[in-house]
Amino acid sequence: MRLTPRKEEIDGVKAILESDAYTTADQMAKALIKEVADMLWMRDWFALVHLNEAGSGGLNWAPFASPIEALNTAEKIAIGGRFGTVKLYSPGALLGNALGKKGWKGFCQDPGCGHAPFLHLMDGSARGACGLASMCTCKKYIK
Ligand SMILES: [Zn+2]
Ligand SMILES: [Zn+2]
Repeated sequence: MRLTPRKEEIDGVKAILESDAYTTADQMAKALIKEVADMLWMRDWFALVHLNEAGSGGLNWAPFASPIEALNTAEKIAIGGRFGTVKLYSPGALLGNALGKKGWKGFCQDPGCGHAPFLHLMDGSARGACGLASMCTCKKYIK
């Protein structure tokens, strides 16, 4: 799988590697795997979908980082039939948009908020207080 690590992902891994909170390598390894899985859950992916020679559905494979990567894999396996790609939207972003994602790029950086930008009320041309007033005390969207 070809992926380009993003700055916030590198920062998240570095924070664990440089932390003194882990007493064993096993603990640190578990934390790293969970953190990276969470990061990958926040990305969109692509699936390679297959129609066999008869035109009915074959097997599907995922995840791929891009449609090109999926189709290049199809070329390598050379099983005939027709291939296409489907975009798989991030379930982490879906949940984050509904429930918030504290400390995550693209969501409000107010420590008590973490909600999506579109959940903040417009204040002139900027985003002001969080619209979920019952849940947080955010007065201004922080990028
Ligand atoms: Zn909020
Ligand atoms: Zn906020």
